[in-house]
Amino acid sequence: MSPTIRRVAVFCASSPGVDPGLSRATYDVGRGLAGRGIGLVYGGGGHGLMREVSQGALDAGGEVLGVIPRSMIEREWGRDDLTELHVVETMHERKAMMADLADAFLCLPGGLGTLEEVIEVWSWRYIGFNDDPVGFLNLGGTWTPLLDALDGLADAGFIRREVLEDVVVAEDLDAALAGLTARLGVTPGAKLG
Ligand code: AMP
Repeated sequence: MSPTIRRVAVFCASSPGVDPGLSRATYDVGRGLAGRGIGLVYGGGGHGLMREVSQGALDAGGEVLGVIPRSMIEREWGRDDLTELHVVETMHERKAMMADLADAFLCLPGGLGTLEEVIEVWSWRYIGFNDDPVGFLNLGGTWTPLLDALDGLADAGFIRREVLEDVVVAEDLDAALAGLTARLGVTPGAKLG
């Protein structure tokens, strides 16, 4: 049987940003995951886009697992109404647990924290520390400038083309899930080494 995605770890902003359309689109991603029977793993917060994605999934009756460092509970309004809230001690534990709980990573619009998280798991994948596929859901074209910059780094010979092509870039949830599913079970070492 071909592998399927049971849970997706979503990275996204802890702030709402200035475009209410992105909040709605993020809420719809949460609903969309739940509607497809896919569990959501996220940072456990109740602010900004993190709130939207979790609320969308909860409203649609989905499974929502949050992972939050103890010291961030107050600052990020850690939610106590999730299917499960895992409280950890460090940011590193948070990322490692999110990786353990999910089958794939999906990056929605976000800031420094989001950026740091997605780049780290992507780099883990290509050095063989983690084989969960990684994707950008490019809502509103938010990630286009970053993707262009990464393309420039590939042109300059600092990122291998196959590493760049290994990351999913999609405009809608169906395309994102299709791309991630197609990469499940691909051993990054074998593919990218
Ligand atoms: P931001 O994109 O900056 O709004 O942050 C999104 C999420 O990333 C928030 O839950 C932050 O706590 C989290 N975050 C920030 N820095 C890090 C980090 N170094 N490692 C893991 N998560 C982080």
